[in-house]
Amino acid sequence: MSAPHLTTTLPQTMFINGEKTRSAAGKTFPVFNPATSEELAQIPDASESDIDHAVRTSKAAFESDTWRNMPPAARERLLLKLADLVEQHTDELATLETLNQGKLIGFAKMLEVSGSVQWLRYMAGWATKVEGTTFDLSIPFPPGTRYNASTRRVPAGVVAAIVPWNFPLLMAVWKIAPALACGCTVVLKPAEETPLTAIRLAELAHEAGFPPGVFNVVTGRGETAGAALVKHPLVNKVTFTGSTEVGRIIGRQCADDLKRVSLELGGKSPVIVLDDCDPRKAIEGAAGAIFFNHGQVCTAGSRLYVARSIYDEVVQGITAVADSIALGSGFDAATQMGPMVSARHRDKVLGMIAQGKQEGGEILSRDARVERDGYFVRPTVIANRACKPLSVVREEVFGPVLVAMPYDDLDDVLGEANASEYGLGASVWTNQLDKALRLVDGIEAGTVWVNTHNMVDPAMPFGGFKASGIGREHGKAIIDSYTESKSVCIAY
Ligand code: NAD
Repeated sequence: MSAPHLTTTLPQTMFINGEKTRSAAGKTFPVFNPATSEELAQIPDASESDIDHAVRTSKAAFESDTWRNMPPAARERLLLKLADLVEQHTDELATLETLNQGKLIGFAKMLEVSGSVQWLRYMAGWATKVEGTTFDLSIPFPPGTRYNASTRRVPAGVVAAIVPWNFPLLMAVWKIAPALACGCTVVLKPAEETPLTAIRLAELAHEAGFPPGVFNVVTGRGETAGAALVKHPLVNKVTFTGSTEVGRIIGRQCADDLKRVSLELGGKSPVIVLDDCDPRKAIEGAAGAIFFNHGQVCTAGSRLYVARSIYDEVVQGITAVADSIALGSGFDAATQMGPMVSARHRDKVLGMIAQGKQEGGEILSRDARVERDGYFVRPTVIANRACKPLSVVREEVFGPVLVAMPYDDLDDVLGEANASEYGLGASVWTNQLDKALRLVDGIEAGTVWVNTHNMVDPAMPFGGFKASGIGREHGKAIIDSYTESKSVCIAY
């Protein structure tokens, strides 16, 4: 294994008001290298008063003239400068991500860092394109009075952004880039497992010239720091990506406070292979849909439905792929799959595989348990020929675990695909246009891919139906998410 190479020390402080900041009480928690189980660093464990400090700082920055009244073109230039700095620090950021999250270094560079640069540049462009409308009014009094009426979109205020650990840098950028482009200020809380790249991102933003307090990063546990951030009275908008369970808690709090909220939550995405699909293409596509990023993807294609005529061939092929995957450190060029993010998550994934077997699923792949340091789980394929309502079919595993079911009829498979509380993503594999379009029409999901899976782009809205969330990220609609509409009515 080649040793991780870092020219700088690991980031170990929060970043508030343009300064590296420790928790006032001095409390910390450890973060680990999931490929070795070694402790990497001690990170500030923010208390309610640390969160209060960060939010007040962010509010002061919002109310000052330096940010929301900065010419939009200047905000755009700062975001572009940040994109350049992120790009220049590709090796460092990718190394931090692989060290702390476990993903393959190639993916860390290509998806996390390049993706972050792409999103920052795309969102920078929106800073100068926030616009309202004008319209005519029909108010008949006082007699002789005319009206000039319009809407303006104004920044929502202080944004609390809370993100998960599967794509730590990219998820942070998905939130901060549009919020900053719209003139909001941000307090970002990364997941407790993976805070390192978010802290570096704030330091780079400071270097780019963002005014102090505009973009702050707090570190801490969900139930304490995260909860304090969500309920802080000076927070105007909460944007959350994470589990449906926590999304419900946050949604309830925001409903009580009447705060704006967007929720990007869990998924249990179906992959539907039709009988005309070349089995080799189906094997490659379905294996990629579930095993990418070790299955720790909200749109992971975790439920596979294959036309019965090609079911055995496709499922055997995916099992062969799973069994051939080399596990190891993300820094090792021979590695094809890294570890789960934490010991707790590894144990959850192994528990769900065991439960699937107990409930009648047939494990086709090698033993998922791995006897080595680090939090590894072998990719697992479970056959569910009888289409039983196994827990592993219903519940999100968030790991490299596929459940495969045969089907005979398009209407039946559509019913099965939609028989889930989730509705984040889905893919259909066929060249039969009419059937593909019928499934696209019928599937209840925020994104339906055809002959591909897990592809995202800053121009393409992303979000969930049902328990997969509320709201959409990316694209033009993102402006509405970080601004309020203000109607202006002038009598003359
Ligand atoms: P999680 O919900 O446990 O944690 C996410 C974040 O919420 C973390 O920063 C955590 O500290 C914080 N948090 C936890 N409890 C909190 C509380 N009570 N109040 C405020 N904040 C709290 O999720 P996770 O395990 O980090 O990530 C995996 C989940 O994220 C999966 O369900 C996955 O599907 C989902 N996810 C969704 C998307 C999407 O775009 N829809 C993208 C990536 C991940």
